[in-house]
Amino acid sequence: MISRLRTMWGIRSRRSARRPRQAGLAGIAALPVLAAAVPLTPLVAQDTQDARVDEVLAGVQDSIIRLRETIHQNPELGNREFKTAVLVADHLRALGFDEVRTGIAHTGVVGILRGGLPGPVVAVRADMDALPVTEDTPYPFKSTVRTTYLGQEVGVSHACGHDIHVAVQLGVAAILASMRDELPGTVKFIFQPAEEGPPPGEEGGADLMVAEGVLEDPAPSAIFGLHSFAEMEVGKVGFTSGPALAAVDHFKIRVTGKQSHGAAPHLGVDPIVMASQAVTAFQTIRSRNLNPLEPSVITVGIVRGGTRFNIIPDVVEMEGTVRTYNPDVRDAVERRMGEILAGITGAGGGTFELDYDRGTPATINDPELGVRMLPTLERVVGAENVVALDPTMGGEDFAYFANEVPGFFFRLGQVKPGGTSGGHHTPDFQADNSAVPVGIRAMTNLLLDYLKEAAANPRVSSEGSAAGWQSGRPATE
Ligand SMILES: [Zn+2]
Ligand SMILES: [Zn+2]
Repeated sequence: MISRLRTMWGIRSRRSARRPRQAGLAGIAALPVLAAAVPLTPLVAQDTQDARVDEVLAGVQDSIIRLRETIHQNPELGNREFKTAVLVADHLRALGFDEVRTGIAHTGVVGILRGGLPGPVVAVRADMDALPVTEDTPYPFKSTVRTTYLGQEVGVSHACGHDIHVAVQLGVAAILASMRDELPGTVKFIFQPAEEGPPPGEEGGADLMVAEGVLEDPAPSAIFGLHSFAEMEVGKVGFTSGPALAAVDHFKIRVTGKQSHGAAPHLGVDPIVMASQAVTAFQTIRSRNLNPLEPSVITVGIVRGGTRFNIIPDVVEMEGTVRTYNPDVRDAVERRMGEILAGITGAGGGTFELDYDRGTPATINDPELGVRMLPTLERVVGAENVVALDPTMGGEDFAYFANEVPGFFFRLGQVKPGGTSGGHHTPDFQADNSAVPVGIRAMTNLLLDYLKEAAANPRVSSEGSAAGWQSGRPATE
């Protein structure tokens, strides 16, 4: 899927062969207004469905929260989610899932639940990985796990709330398994490794899952996902129609000059001066080369060079990130970085290498799916608790799924009312247990409503069959 290209400037570029199908934010004005959202088919017996979900949830809630605490206490880094994957697979098998596949994209798990009635296939995804962050929370179930990461001894914790995501999805699995005979279609449960990125030198995450065929056999017609949100109270959910999270790229630059005495710069070529000029000039890409209405960020996060105050070094290394939404803007930023480096090092007498690694594409919530499903969120948590969120320049590899099939990704409030949480990826990040049942109710009803609405309004493909349709499994005995 990934190819490495070398251009005339010695720029190495790593990019996905697939071109993302999203537009930039400039197209956002054309998206449907969320408040006008109306489901295509009135959902019958809605009260009955909601009551059934709540009834089953009441029975499983405590055990799911205990699972959340177990996962929280046993966090595992990306591509190393061994115990978490066993816990997940055991849970799905105990629920009587039709199929449980393991070892996908290293440690991923996929469970297939076929309903008793014919209908479409829908997928739901939770990420399982933790982070090299030493937890500092008052939780009795806090993590004390330590490991070695990139040569350093680090604490490991669920500082991005992926333990909540797994627990919610296990709860959804429990409820839908108990309602399977009346389920019109098939639900594919995807438990994904390495959302935060695989360790250097490894592949992993949503990209690898898609490459390994996770969206085939059976192919879903839509995918749902959620992320806990440290800036939102439990009980609230957030949604962004259209572009929601940015594309995330990572670059490494090596500027090479010629070493000399600090008092004799005319005898060398100073890479620190060239690198400094490049850092400053990069900021003119945003301000001078791009449409001001198109979002973009270029951040140089690392500058490394020199050994002594009176020596001009021969090399400066830099690393940073680029965040964009519009694929054309992404192309333009990469191109201009190369041109700027070529111009500055050419003028200064040095050379450079730019290793531009295209990471996660932008996460785009399918506008039409958003219009169809937002009423469900409003019904389940109350319209006043559904917050329309602005797009952010953060990223999420759910994008790889949402580039293949229409995606619906929302934020789940996690802060205990009256409590606090540190930000994502910080030691005092705190996602309260009470977020779990809210997430379960929301996601279960989204999947049920999607299946029921899609089963009642099949979208017929050009071959004359309903896209992704699955016949119902025989009713359980
Ligand atoms: Zn994160
Ligand atoms: Zn995360």
